[in-house]
Formats: sequence, structure tokens, C-alpha cells
Amino acid sequence: MSNADQVFSGGASSSYSVVGEETASEAGDDEVTVTEEEEVVRSGTLLELDLLDCPVCCHALTSPIFQCDNGHIACSSCCTNLRNRCPSCALPIGVYRNRMMERLVEAIIVQCPNAKHGCTDKFSYGKELIHEKECSFALCYCPAPGCNFSDLCNDLYLHYYDRHRGSGEYFRCGYDGQAWMHISDKILVLQEGRDGPLVAIQCFEEEQGVYVTVNCITPCAPGVSEFSFQLTYSAYGAPDRTMSFGLSEMNRIQKVSFQTPEKDFMFVPRYFLNGQTNLKMNICIRRRGEEQ
Ligand SMILES: [Zn+2]
Ligand SMILES: [Zn+2]
Ligand SMILES: [Zn+2]
Ligand SMILES: [Zn+2]
Repeated sequence: MSNADQVFSGGASSSYSVVGEETASEAGDDEVTVTEEEEVVRSGTLLELDLLDCPVCCHALTSPIFQCDNGHIACSSCCTNLRNRCPSCALPIGVYRNRMMERLVEAIIVQCPNAKHGCTDKFSYGKELIHEKECSFALCYCPAPGCNFSDLCNDLYLHYYDRHRGSGEYFRCGYDGQAWMHISDKILVLQEGRDGPLVAIQCFEEEQGVYVTVNCITPCAPGVSEFSFQLTYSAYGAPDRTMSFGLSEMNRIQKVSFQTPEKDFMFVPRYFLNGQTNLKMNICIRRRGEEQ
């Protein structure tokens, strides 16, 4: 196999390595020593990672990558969206692949965006964004109003317990608990036991009534804080005005939002409230997989 073959034979996920880096064995000796053991990994710096993004949609390029006869490139979804017309020169695009560009994007290895928080995972360019959504090193933000603390979830839970927890605002999986809140407080945070996960119950007051959401503050990593819940509301002194809301998979968020939700909420109409300024709810939270 020639050196050139070796250069381009790197596996999809390997770093760009070159076998046979020139090493003069003796002064004045022109002979190049090439052995498997002396593999030298060459690396460089690509200053503009944007070059690896589709010039049409600006998302990270992934295989297959197509090119027109003029050498303009586009990702496969852009080829489809543009009905196989190159946006730069209108020539057909979507048949011929640019294999070199495909190899290049796979050979660029980038760290998880949470590397600074301890994640050691590395990915081909673009794939790190898929991982980031379920990285267990994602920062979580303190849900206490006015607090700007953020950290890895376990440290946030400790912080919350130390700094913010009043008496009794906790939950135990599988048990019914109270979730009483003033609508004007906007948020009620329950913590599992001591130092455990935080569940934020939020209410959003609108003209027609109040929207209530339940979210766990945690990264969306597999197996981390997967809960289900059932929330019930009963209007004070009006047992006929009862409603409930539950999800078999509680949403997991890293930061609470104060935007009125568009999905996954309980809506309490204003006439149900009958002038009350608080919501007396009960909640039962279960760990997924431990439901009865
Ligand atoms: Zn594109
Ligand atoms: Zn073109
Ligand atoms: Zn990560
Ligand atoms: Zn805080």
C-alpha cells in the first residue's frame, strides 16, 4: 500500500492519522523508514468550523453531501427542498456526492459542548449537537426566583437544599403530597427527600384562567430522574370543581421558563377559581418503571 493510500484509509471515527511520517534514520540518509509501530498522528487546527456547515441551511454537514457540476455543495435535505437545483448556479444537484467532504466532516472530531463541565465524549462534527441534548453534564439552573446559580444537577440540588428550601416542600415518590401555592408566586419547587431532584410546579395566569405545568429540573440523559406524575386540583368548597393532569413521562428541563406553555399543562378556568388567589393541588410523583 502506498503512503497516499494510507493517508486516506482512516476509519470514519478515527482522527486524521498518517502512517509513514518522514523520519530520517541517519544524517545524510535519504531513506524513509515506514513501520506500523511508528505511526505518527498528525493533527491541525481548522479555524473556521463553519466551513463544515451546509452553505444553504447552515446546519452541520453530514453524509450524504451532494455537489453540482460547478462544485457547489449542499446537504441532502436542502437538495430535496430545492428540488435538486443548485441555489448558486441552478445546475442539477442531488446525484453526485462529494465523498471527500463526507470523509472530511467525519474525520473532524469535536468535544461535547459540555467538556468544560466534565464530559469527555467526543464526536464527528455535527453529532455532538445530537449528544448535547441528552448529555448528563448539561448545566441546570436554580429555579428559585432571583437566583442565578447554575451547576451540574447534583450540585444544584445541594445548593437548593442549603439556600432555598423552606419547611416541608418535598416529595416522596409514590406518595400523595400537597402542592399548595399562591398564583402570584408563579412557582412552587418540591425536592425529593434531602438533596434529591427538583420538581417545579409553575402557574401562568392569563385572562381566561391559570395554566399549570410540572417539570423536573435535570438533564435529559437516559435513566436520569425519569418520573411520572398525577396532579389534582379541587376548587375550595366546591368538590364538583375538580380536575387532574398527569404525564407518564414528566418533562425534563434545565431551566424554568416564564413563558405561558403551549403544551403539557393543566388549564384551570377563571370561573373555577371563583376569586381564589391560591391553588390547592395534590401531586403524586412516581419514578418511571416503579409505577404500580
Ligand atoms: Zn442544508
Ligand atoms: Zn452550483
Ligand atoms: Zn456530553
Ligand atoms: Zn439558588
